[in-house]
Amino acid sequence: MDVTDITELIKNTDRYNFHSHTEFCDGHAPMATMAEAAAGDGFEIWGFTPHSPICLDSPCNMKSGDIGTYLEKAAELKDRYDGSMKILSSLEIDYISHDFGPHIDYFQNMQLDYRLASVHFVPTQDGVWLDCDGRFERFSRYLKEDYKNDLRYVVEKYFENVIRMIEDGGFEILGHFDKIAGNAALADPEIENAAWYEALVDDVLSHASSAGVIVEINTKSYADKKRFFPAFRWWDKIRNASLPVVVNSDAHYPDKVNAGREEALKLLTQ
Ligand SMILES: [Zn+2]
Ligand SMILES: [Zn+2]
Repeated sequence: MDVTDITELIKNTDRYNFHSHTEFCDGHAPMATMAEAAAGDGFEIWGFTPHSPICLDSPCNMKSGDIGTYLEKAAELKDRYDGSMKILSSLEIDYISHDFGPHIDYFQNMQLDYRLASVHFVPTQDGVWLDCDGRFERFSRYLKEDYKNDLRYVVEKYFENVIRMIEDGGFEILGHFDKIAGNAALADPEIENAAWYEALVDDVLSHASSAGVIVEINTKSYADKKRFFPAFRWWDKIRNASLPVVVNSDAHYPDKVNAGREEALKLLTQ
């Protein structure tokens, strides 16, 4: 599916989700259980996006040897829910560099319905790739011990990679483009007020606009942290750029299939 197919698919329904996790990555339930929960909640379109195989050591990511089994399970569920809920098989593909991202042949040749692209890893000044997603305690330790306490460096490097990922292309949906803000704003609550930070957001959006990708509004952290990714403060910019948007729960648990989506959808239509 391309961008137009996806926007066409959701034209008349809000009961969709293009970002969810599985037993093949750090999800907390088998795909069948997630699909059952989604169908029970009235979803019409459900996309699986396990964390892609990656060129780094990462316990959260799928092993490349599991791709075949994953796609088989997705195919089984496509049949099971045929006519009631459209199941889509995809991956949340990590972007590392020009050598590894959604655009490389490995992912382009895979039989996926669409591709969701995200940045989670940021290299240190010494070139060591660290996962900046996840708990603040870990991020805080990395910041002090590995990033020489230079928060602005981490944030700039993160956004630099988001922009490179958009330039390299090969995907339809841009995952949680300011995810770094979750941890960065805990380290410095004023960081998103800085002019240089806002300029990075503007840069991402102008690249997204030229590339014609869909911007994800990720609602996973709304219930506990009252934060969307991208942050609500940037939604006007997204609207002004006329960028297509999808609202995804990024569910890792069956009871979170719709978490935060209603709140985001309501805010979007205000
Ligand atoms: Zn992610
Ligand atoms: Zn995810």
